[in-house]
Amino acid sequence: MGVEELYRNLSSKQKKAFRVKAAGKLMELGIIDSDHNVKNTDMWDKLEAIFGAGNVLKTLQMRIGQRAIKRAERKAARNKSQAFYDSDAWKRLRYQALKLHGARCQCCGATRSDNVQIHVDHIKPRSKYPELELELSNLQILCEPCNIGKSALDETDWRDQPKTKVTMIWN
Ligand SMILES: [Zn+2]
Repeated sequence: MGVEELYRNLSSKQKKAFRVKAAGKLMELGIIDSDHNVKNTDMWDKLEAIFGAGNVLKTLQMRIGQRAIKRAERKAARNKSQAFYDSDAWKRLRYQALKLHGARCQCCGATRSDNVQIHVDHIKPRSKYPELELELSNLQILCEPCNIGKSALDETDWRDQPKTKVTMIWN
């Protein structure tokens, strides 16, 4: 759902709150007074030139509303993410990954004795590959600094490369 559509679905009470906020912003900037009379005609004319005559308050209200909606969406995404990390399915898988690789950062070699937290990292980040969020093969062990450094943009696989097979030569 686009932001515009979300905004249209707001209650009139919510929209009014944004309108009041928008007016408050204009008052704060000294452009209108508390009776909504234009005080700074220069600034008002500039705003009308940008947003169109009669649209200043509406546009500001819309922008404040859009920001509020984006904040709410980010909060919902954070809650959803927290629910994932709290789930038993994730805790079971996380444990499997630690058992498989050991609790040592596969990038820098740090362990908890180096005073770092050990994270189980999604190699291909959940934000881009939600279908891989419960795949053991998509997990690696990283310390917190390495994990933060990697971020959700990097997809480097730091797991040990498969050991080269030793060919026994009999002579
Ligand atoms: Zn590390």
